[in-house]
Amino acid sequence: MNFNMSITKNLIHIKSQLPEHVTLVAVSKTKPISDLKEAYNAGQRIFGENKIQEMVDKQPQMPTDVDWHMIGHVQRNKVKYMASFVSLIHGVDNFKLLKEIDKQALKHDRIINCLLQIKIATEESKFGMTAEEAEKILLSEAFSSLKNIKVVGVMGMATFTDDQTQLQQEFTFLKNTFNKLQEIKTENCNLQTISMGMSGDYKLAIDCGSTMVRVGSSIFGARNYSI
Ligand SMILES: *Cc1c(COP(=O)(O)O)cnc(C)c1O
Repeated sequence: MNFNMSITKNLIHIKSQLPEHVTLVAVSKTKPISDLKEAYNAGQRIFGENKIQEMVDKQPQMPTDVDWHMIGHVQRNKVKYMASFVSLIHGVDNFKLLKEIDKQALKHDRIINCLLQIKIATEESKFGMTAEEAEKILLSEAFSSLKNIKVVGVMGMATFTDDQTQLQQEFTFLKNTFNKLQEIKTENCNLQTISMGMSGDYKLAIDCGSTMVRVGSSIFGARNYSI
């Protein structure tokens, strides 16, 4: 079987199902550069990684018109490694991290777009802030002084479950949070993006208002963490 052919086929299939207003992030974590190149040759330009080191290793091996999205949990001390090129950071879940991203973006004389990660899952292990915490940050004076970041939306990770009703509730909660936070419009805050939905649930997420889906295994195949 030619696996590369199937990446192209998978991409074409998924894209045919996405409404025009929905952006596809191809989640390429753990996958070799040859897989990313196949997706690139099929027209994909946005790639998502969940580890900063892996993204930093891959970035110089891909064409310069790739948009790199950091979709995983971000440790503050590693922001500096991606600050020169990352195009969107999905998992911003506290103010100290925003401050560090701003500081590192300034060093490169650029503005880094960020999404605030909202906790929508019931699982303890999932990161994210409450809607109230997000609102408090966006309205704070400390936030308004950050000139090198821009909050352009929200991101959420649903509970790992097949329960469609629960998933729908969690996605709808994120959509409602977005609607509320969207009323806040300042120099560095203008919410346009709702990042929610993965391979197993992106259709439901889109029905609930998602504008950006993060799809990995449905494009690149199952991940093998043992190698
Ligand atoms: C791995 C990952 C995805 C993609 O998951 P799939 O089920 O393979 O589509 C999406 N979002 C985040 C944050 C991830 O870590």
